Amino acid sequence: MGHNNGTHHPSLAESVRGFFSPAGALAGAKGYESRSGQASMAEKVAEVIEAKRHLVVEAGTGTGKSLAYLVPAAYAAESGRKAIVSTYTIHLQEQLFGKDVPIVQSLVPFEFTAALLKGRQNYLCPHRLRKAQAQQGELFATGQAEQLKGLVEWAGRTRDGTLSDLDFSVDAAVWAQVCSEAFACTPRHCGGANGCFYQKARGAILDANVVIVNHALLFGLLAGMEQEEETPDEGYLFPNDFLILDEAHEVEDVAAKALGLEVRLGSLRFLLQRLVHPRTKKGV
Ligand code: SF4
Repeated sequence: MGHNNGTHHPSLAESVRGFFSPAGALAGAKGYESRSGQASMAEKVAEVIEAKRHLVVEAGTGTGKSLAYLVPAAYAAESGRKAIVSTYTIHLQEQLFGKDVPIVQSLVPFEFTAALLKGRQNYLCPHRLRKAQAQQGELFATGQAEQLKGLVEWAGRTRDGTLSDLDFSVDAAVWAQVCSEAFACTPRHCGGANGCFYQKARGAILDANVVIVNHALLFGLLAGMEQEEETPDEGYLFPNDFLILDEAHEVEDVAAKALGLEVRLGSLRFLLQRLVHPRTKKGV
C-alpha cells in the first residue's frame, strides 16, 4: 500500500487501491469479482473526494460502479467525512442500502454506518393512521376499511414503515390518507421520532457515515437550507460531507423542479457550481 515507512498514513486513493488490488479485500471475498474499470473508477473517486473536486463518470450497469463509489465513501468515513449518495429511483436506493452497503461493510477492516431516507410520502404516518381509523366509517369503502385494519396490524411489524415493505396491496386512495405529509406533520405533538417512521429515518441520517437519499429529496433539502441560511461552512448538507450522484442523467430535471429554476440548466458544470456554494452562488 504505497510507500509505507511506518509513519506514512495511506491516502484515501491508496487505501482504495489496496482494497481492489489482486491481494486486497475484494479479491479475497467469495462470490465477488472485480470488474474491469471498477478499480480505476474507485481510485479516481477517492482522489476527488480527498481533493474536494468534482468528477463525472459514465458507467453502464453491470460495471460494479456502486462498489466503485461506496468503497471510497466507506474509507472516507474512516477519516471523518460523510457521504451523501443520491439516486433517482427507490429501487437503486434500496439496492445500495440492502445489498451493496452490507457487502462493503463486511469487507472493509473497520465499521461504518449507513442510513436510508426516502421521500416523505413513502412512510406511514402513525398519527394520520389513528385519525383515519377514527373516521373510517365516513372515509372508506368496505374493502378499504379492511386495508386500513391491515395497515394498523402492519404498523406493528414493518421494518421501516415504507410502501416497499408492504406485503399486501393497499389502494392509492387509502395510502394517501395515512402517509406522512408535510402539511399534516406535527412532530412535537407526536413526540418526534418515537414511533414515527419518517422522523426516525430523518434522525438516522444525522449520525450515519453514508446517507442514501434520492435526487428530489437532496435538492429539496438543499433548497430548504438555502432559504434558512443553514448551509454548513464546509459541506453541502452536513459539515465535511460530499455528494455522489448516481443515475445522474435525471439530475437536471429534478434539480430544476426542486430549486424552482425557471431556466433549464444548460450544463452539469453550472449545476455543480451552484451546488458548491448554494448560498452565495459562487462557483469554483
Ligand atoms: S411526526 Fe409527522 S409523520 Fe410522524 S407521526 Fe407525527 S404527523 Fe406523522
